[in-house]
Amino acid sequence: MPQVLPLAVLPLAVLLSAVLAGASQEPEQSCREKHLQSPAPSPGHRWSCRAEAPLKMTAHRLLGSLPLDEVKDSSVRTVNRCIFSQSQPTPLQGALQLAALSKDVLEKVLDLDDSVMQHEDLPQFLSGGKLFPGSFPLAHRYGGHQFGYWAGQLGDGRAHLLGEFINRKGERWELQLKGSGKTPYSRSGDGRAVLRSSVREFLCSEAMHFLNVPTSRALSLVVSEEPVWRDQFYNGGVRKERGAVVLRLAPSWFRIGSLEILTKAGEPDVLRTLLNFVIEQHFTAINPNDPNKYVAFFTAVVNETAHMIAKWMSVGFAHGVCNTDNFSLLSITIDYGPFGFMEAYNPNFVPNSSDDEGRYSIGAQANVGLFNLQRLLEALLPVLSLNQRSQAEHILRGYPQIYHSRFHELFRAKLGLIGDEDDDAYLIAFLLKLMEDTGADFTMTFRHLSEVTLLRLQNDSITQEMWALWDLSSHEFFSDWAKLYVQRLRSQHGDSDENRQYRMRAVNPRYVLRNWMAESAIRKAEVNDFSEVELLQQTLTEPFVKQKRAESAGYSSRPPAWASQLRVSCSS
Ligand code: AMP
Ligand code: MG
Repeated sequence: MPQVLPLAVLPLAVLLSAVLAGASQEPEQSCREKHLQSPAPSPGHRWSCRAEAPLKMTAHRLLGSLPLDEVKDSSVRTVNRCIFSQSQPTPLQGALQLAALSKDVLEKVLDLDDSVMQHEDLPQFLSGGKLFPGSFPLAHRYGGHQFGYWAGQLGDGRAHLLGEFINRKGERWELQLKGSGKTPYSRSGDGRAVLRSSVREFLCSEAMHFLNVPTSRALSLVVSEEPVWRDQFYNGGVRKERGAVVLRLAPSWFRIGSLEILTKAGEPDVLRTLLNFVIEQHFTAINPNDPNKYVAFFTAVVNETAHMIAKWMSVGFAHGVCNTDNFSLLSITIDYGPFGFMEAYNPNFVPNSSDDEGRYSIGAQANVGLFNLQRLLEALLPVLSLNQRSQAEHILRGYPQIYHSRFHELFRAKLGLIGDEDDDAYLIAFLLKLMEDTGADFTMTFRHLSEVTLLRLQNDSITQEMWALWDLSSHEFFSDWAKLYVQRLRSQHGDSDENRQYRMRAVNPRYVLRNWMAESAIRKAEVNDFSEVELLQQTLTEPFVKQKRAESAGYSSRPPAWASQLRVSCSS
């Protein structure tokens, strides 16, 4: 292999795949209770149920299998010996507007069609003002490690699980409202979510689905005139915003924190009940009678968490708040808050402006995954024998390897490489180093590589139109890298340049939800113009396909100058 760039100068380039040590460090706590500040009180509520609702649900399986809070009091309190508390949504005040709806979820998940839009009460159903028949609203009790520290009881403080919907394919989906009012887990919060964070969650969870990243889904976004007070940047600037509700869906909303709280509270029987339920319902490859089933479950979560984080990295996604209460047991991306898609390549990219320590920087996510899995293992200790514990510890030691190989596989595909050659890791790390040095845009560098011809690469004739690749090509070692890359591609017998581009375009998106795009849509949505939310939603359902309207909107262009000033905090 021609050593054009010594490996010693690739330190941070390997960032994305390396540094899996020191995950158990516990840095300073930050961004903890800040987002719970709610200077204004929320109103009382009424709710009702009508038979002609567009959707029928059930809560039998959840209620029949998992213990319910015996205390019926809806006040904020410490809850014991249960998985759920009964809690009614608080309808949003004032006129409601259905700001966005996912046609894909409507049709492919909920077996409905556009005619449902005629239903006059639809915004009420989608925001908790009316309940679908069969629903039984619940708030889930969970805890979590936040920014490295055990935070005690957290729970659904502003979300209501409505129940399950079983579609014609036999899939079970749990429907949940977010922003639907207080529950026993609201602590000092108001139970609400504001328009800006709801637009972001709605758009991003759907966008991630179409990027083929495991994620929760979102059906709808309902906005209201209800005033919600937030200090967006925690600098004393409390401002009136608008309340909104997202109806989101997942096969299950259980988190690592769902198990942690039961172990911390000394409730091993409840822990066993929840684990058996989760395994039977969601890990069907595991035999429920297998005496080693908890180790098998842990093995599956370790694998899938590594897979999910590698997928995040492959699209440049930083979650922003990787606390154990935001890590799903099904290893799907949940709880979208101050997330961000990395633009100029930077392993230290931190999307959340409240994350002062950079604990959840993009390059730290693999380590954080390990930290969270260590917390999961601790939560499982009451149900593991000594021997099973050491088996689980052994599995966890394999996590870096699982992550590395998944990461490597995804990045090989991003470069259109067929097979696995010894020098591929070098080729990938070399490219990332060039991107880091030049600050080339992550998404568009890979996309331009999917669109450029080999001939152009070989002749070093990149045009300015391919702006990210143009930036990259300013690096003194670019032509060395390009030479290696072209050589590697030419060695793929039977592969054509067209085929290579086709494969690469199918895994390298042209559009991701950049902050400036979300921000621009939010500014319009604040004044009831939802056209840009709609345009983004449309665009992001086909992120791998070049689209006219998206191009005119500049979604694949160099980000505008004002984008660099944007900050996203965990205020939501
Ligand atoms: P998050 O940062 O959104 O994942 O939330 C962390 C915890 O704080 C969860 O228990 C949430 O339910 C709770 N929480 C966040 N915002 C609010 C709010 N406005 N009202 C009540 N609980 C909240
Ligand atoms: Mg959360």
